[in-house]
Amino acid sequence: MDQMFNKKMETISREKLQELQLKQLKQTVKQVYEKVPFYTKAFKKNGVTPADIKTLHDIQKLPFTTKNDLRDNMPFGMLTAPLIDYVELHASSGTTGIPITACYTVHDLEVWSEVMARCLCMSGLTKKDIFQNPIPYGTFTGAFGFHYGAQKIGSMFIPSGKGQSERQIKLMEYYGTTFISGVASYAIRLGQVAESMGIDPKKLSVRNGLFGAEMFTKGLKQRIIDTWDMDVHDIYGLTEMCGPGVSTDCDEHDGLHIWEDHFLLEVLDPKTLEPVGPEEEGELVITTLTKTGMPLLRYRTRDIAKIYDETTCECGRTHRKHSTIKGRSDDMIILRGTNIYPGQIEHVLMKHEDVGGNWRMVLSTKNEMDMLTVELETSRQLSQIEMMDLEEQLKGDIQSVLVFTPQVKILPPNTIPDTGLKAKRVIDNREKE
Ligand SMILES: [Zn+2]
Repeated sequence: MDQMFNKKMETISREKLQELQLKQLKQTVKQVYEKVPFYTKAFKKNGVTPADIKTLHDIQKLPFTTKNDLRDNMPFGMLTAPLIDYVELHASSGTTGIPITACYTVHDLEVWSEVMARCLCMSGLTKKDIFQNPIPYGTFTGAFGFHYGAQKIGSMFIPSGKGQSERQIKLMEYYGTTFISGVASYAIRLGQVAESMGIDPKKLSVRNGLFGAEMFTKGLKQRIIDTWDMDVHDIYGLTEMCGPGVSTDCDEHDGLHIWEDHFLLEVLDPKTLEPVGPEEEGELVITTLTKTGMPLLRYRTRDIAKIYDETTCECGRTHRKHSTIKGRSDDMIILRGTNIYPGQIEHVLMKHEDVGGNWRMVLSTKNEMDMLTVELETSRQLSQIEMMDLEEQLKGDIQSVLVFTPQVKILPPNTIPDTGLKAKRVIDNREKE
């Protein structure tokens, strides 16, 4: 059995868990109905009041919350209390305009630290570890989530922050770092940098890591394992819920346990908004059950995954598992009439060991036709002939997924800019009508 941060809650019976969920749901519903004008209006529009929530199933009567709803009410319109009751705020990047701001009460920070501690503990972090956190500190949630969780566990924490990859490697060597975090593609980058410094990453003390913020395929995961000779866990989360900390995979490495005492999960068809069948893919829609400062009902994450039917796991936890995130429904690209997720391309790329962790899809228009160029870095310097070989192989492999042949542009290692934040996988330069 894995070590657990909160064994009592992580192994709670399904019956007790559902009782708790219903109690928390009723409380949350009452709170937002009374305190947040956006919800008061939305409840009226749906013809529903808090008294209508009698079972967990009744969640289907409640209004949804979308990213646009949040934008319309930013920065402070979704809060349940006056600003004086809040102690911290974080904001997402806002690639399409207004950033999403989340405000935290002391209680909310406590909840976030708790769920992060559970995730870190599940991925093997102990008090004895030396944990280096190479994530930019700022208004993003990432660095702070790991920071707060690690302090609950009591490991020695190095807030090494943004980038400067050579410095990160030197710190790892100097302090004997055993555990790292961050985005998966950056773990690959760090491995390459170590090698370029003449340091074999396998000879460093790093044995474990927890990575998130971008979808990552089995192939990318295996790549990190092979580079570092370490165990790799996957974490999921989003600013709207708390930040990272919503779910993580246990040592079974088969799905991510979502903390159902804090987050009530539905999986819905993104078009009809009806529940999908058992183990079918759909959009994750999450209701917060314990947030007091900015609770959200039925938040449409746009993330596509499926939830496992099984509620027992070898690790002993009773919280349900979802599959790794296949992609954001926002990230889905329609290319010559076919739906494509970046993950499908990554899956193909990661089968080739000469492909590095950094890659992107560049879309353009030529003769009124969608064109795709897949740009990727190699994991080592290749000869001209090796590059041509790789290009041919990749064209064929990608063609079998897309049904047409893309351009493939092969770049030397470390040429695609890297921020240490979520990688931008799609650059859409197509002409819009
Ligand atoms: Zn498990």
